[in-house]
Amino acid sequence: QSYMINKEISIVIPTFNEEGNIEKLYESLLAVLSELSIEKFEIIFINDGSTDNSLKIIKKLNAINNQVKYINLSRNFGHQCALKAGLDHAIGEAVISMDADMQHPPELIKTLYNTWKQGYEVVYTLRKDSTELPFLKRKTSQWFYKLINYLSSTKVEAGAADFRLLDRKVVDALKSFNESHLFIRGIIPWLGFNQIGIEYTPQNRFSGASKYTFKQMLRLALTGITSFSAKPLYFSIYFGLFFAFLAFLYGVYALYIAAFTNQALQGWTSIIASVLFIGGIQLIMLGIIGEYLGKLFIQSKNRPNYIVSDKN
Ligand code: UDP
Ligand code: MG
Repeated sequence: QSYMINKEISIVIPTFNEEGNIEKLYESLLAVLSELSIEKFEIIFINDGSTDNSLKIIKKLNAINNQVKYINLSRNFGHQCALKAGLDHAIGEAVISMDADMQHPPELIKTLYNTWKQGYEVVYTLRKDSTELPFLKRKTSQWFYKLINYLSSTKVEAGAADFRLLDRKVVDALKSFNESHLFIRGIIPWLGFNQIGIEYTPQNRFSGASKYTFKQMLRLALTGITSFSAKPLYFSIYFGLFFAFLAFLYGVYALYIAAFTNQALQGWTSIIASVLFIGGIQLIMLGIIGEYLGKLFIQSKNRPNYIVSDKN
């Protein structure tokens, strides 16, 4: 293959309605790249169906600097798919992915780059818990990492963000994935290679608001968990055993009352309560099975993760 020394670094940036950030990020990236005296680079913006002026601004930058590339997706496919599109198209010897909103400090690219030069093939970043982030976001993210690490055998480090440098080898390996529910953060540790994590303090968004709604975050969390673990499917076994045991104890007690005393057991309330409780658990278990079944269904159609409308 012929990407040899063609481009040293690719920077891949999923972009969804970031009109206020693109130019600022572009300027900072140029500054960092020139400090590192990297001349052969490409900055790829993946326009993920923005409805604002993002694409216009990217095209304007491309007109003044052909090292700026764009991939325009046909609609909004979501952050992970946009990221995959960028990784698939990047040709650099190392590929750095980052957010468009300046929350991932461009300055850190120097460390990523130098660490890569020392021979690491994956240089990922760990978001230090900073009070800059809203309390709820911090907490839910902590719980999520605890849960996913408890459930799955692949370890995802807390605060691992989609801000990282990947060597060409790793990017090529990643290209071979055609999962319909991507959770790149989980795939990276799974891939192996020579990895190292670097801490950073996230900044505030430069402009605009977060594009991840609570619902999308929940979706990503569920995708993350169900992509890397089948354990939730077995929950019902434990619940089942537990309640069968309780029922057995209660049966013994009821028999005892009936045989050795002359009282009768009463219990409307307890019957209703336990019926509702068991019913609830059964519905949850059905939901879990549905989650996996749905994934199987979508995956079986083997549709692409994204559709490119145009690019340069
Ligand atoms: N993003 C995207 N598609 C989406 C949502 C977000 O490409 O559907 C991009 C967004 O433009 C940003 C990055 O993904 O560059 C992270 O999104 P955001 O900053 O909104 O998430 P947060 O930092 O709040 O978790
Ligand atoms: Mg952000």
